[in-house]
Amino acid sequence: MSTLESLTLLFHRNLKNKMSRITQVFDYDNSHDKCIYLMTKSFRIHNNYSLYEAINYAETKSLELAIYIVEAYEENPENLKYFKKMVEDLPLRLKEFSSIIAYKKRDEITEDLLADANTIFVDKAYLRFDLDFYEKVKMIAYKKSKNLFTVEANVFVPVNVASNKEEYSAKTIRNKINSKLGEYRDERLVDHDLTKAEGLAFTVLKDFINKKLNYYHLHNDPSLDYTSSISPYLKFGFISPVTIYNKISSIKTENSEAFLEELIIRRELAYNFVYYNPTYDDFNYMTYDWAYRTMNHHVNDEREYIYTKEDYINYRTHDPYFNAAMKEMIYLGKMNSYMRMYWCKKIIEWSKTYQEAYRIAIELNNFYFLDGLTPNGYCGVAWCFGKHDRAWTERPIFGKLRYMNANGLERKFNISDYVKKMDNEEERIKK
Ligand SMILES: Cc1cc2nc3c(=O)[nH]c(=O)nc-3n(C[C@H](O)[C@H](O)[C@H](O)COP(=O)(O)OP(=O)(O)OC[C@H]3O[C@@H](n4cnc5c(N)ncnc54)[C@H](O)[C@@H]3O)c2cc1C
Repeated sequence: MSTLESLTLLFHRNLKNKMSRITQVFDYDNSHDKCIYLMTKSFRIHNNYSLYEAINYAETKSLELAIYIVEAYEENPENLKYFKKMVEDLPLRLKEFSSIIAYKKRDEITEDLLADANTIFVDKAYLRFDLDFYEKVKMIAYKKSKNLFTVEANVFVPVNVASNKEEYSAKTIRNKINSKLGEYRDERLVDHDLTKAEGLAFTVLKDFINKKLNYYHLHNDPSLDYTSSISPYLKFGFISPVTIYNKISSIKTENSEAFLEELIIRRELAYNFVYYNPTYDDFNYMTYDWAYRTMNHHVNDEREYIYTKEDYINYRTHDPYFNAAMKEMIYLGKMNSYMRMYWCKKIIEWSKTYQEAYRIAIELNNFYFLDGLTPNGYCGVAWCFGKHDRAWTERPIFGKLRYMNANGLERKFNISDYVKKMDNEEERIKK
């Protein structure tokens, strides 16, 4: 173990409050007078637990607070454009907490910039591109003897409090999370004006509660529109799951329970997956042994159709439902949740190898979805390869992986309405 790792461990053991969202990584004495909050995942004020902790810490220690809004990591320039637009007014809004506010690209966070920091707060990182950034900050803090705190502001229950291991399925994590909800529902900084992005997130949530929640039992139907569409706001931390939970949990219906199952249990299972499985994005290690065994068994099964990524993004498959899903992905940056499952299952069915299917699904997911590049994306794709699922009846190509087909869509939904809807989107956009 390196000196840095053993030091980190030592400080982790000395945590003042083990049940908190906040983790002290380094505890040093230094003579600098700034407390710097690196806002990397929670671009909001209401229930921004990182901001709250940084403000309190700076006040208690008589440090000057500086806030750096660190640009989100995006692969798609359109998604980055969206992010930048959404945080345009954030510096102005943050002025009430600090006079030193700046928007920074990731590579602008350097040793020089952090030179006068006494203490650094940073939002907790889970995925590789955020962990790489965090490691850079951690190395600077270590080399320059700066206090370092991470805060888990975008999950309801901190991941290592919810469970101390990688969970097998929603069933194994559900009670662990549910039994701790009461401890983490306190709200912070809610008496302040909303930023533009927060305001939009609140409008989307209000709209969902008023117009869609009563129909949430129909949310799988792609021809209807009864999901919340809140996922991009959660991704960028424009809204906290605590805010959403506190509003929905007071509505005592089966639909609100079903929604909270997705928002809290399914979403935090995804965080559990990427946190405890450092190979969450490696085809060879992301799913279960039974799934690899069954895929190995069927590796040479004949594929009736073989398509490439270019075929998908040019809507060139024989399947109108899949093509419609691709249109929703490319034109609208999203996809109905049931269609996401169908979409990824078809990529498995139509790729030369399982590895290629995994690569294509992850690449498309992370590039086109506005809510891509989140634990949910990696977990959703892994689910299609058996993760958090069980073995089903054996069949070609899929083996014991769950299979989905077009007949199911036709039986359950007015799926041709979905195709028409996406064709209309295409016409609207091409005009
Ligand atoms: C192959 C595949 C890929 C996916 N890729 C992504 C992705 O890149 N980003 C993403 O946020 N979600 C992803 N999901 C999960 C889910 O489909 C989306 O979260 C959901 O469609 C977002 O729409 P909504 O906010 O209207 O959902 P709602 O039904 O209104 O749900 C509310 C919130 O609950 C959470 N949630 C819902 N379903 C799931 C789920 N199955 N797993 C984890 N959390 C869930 C989301 O945060 C969502 O915003 C994927 C699922 C699959 C099967």
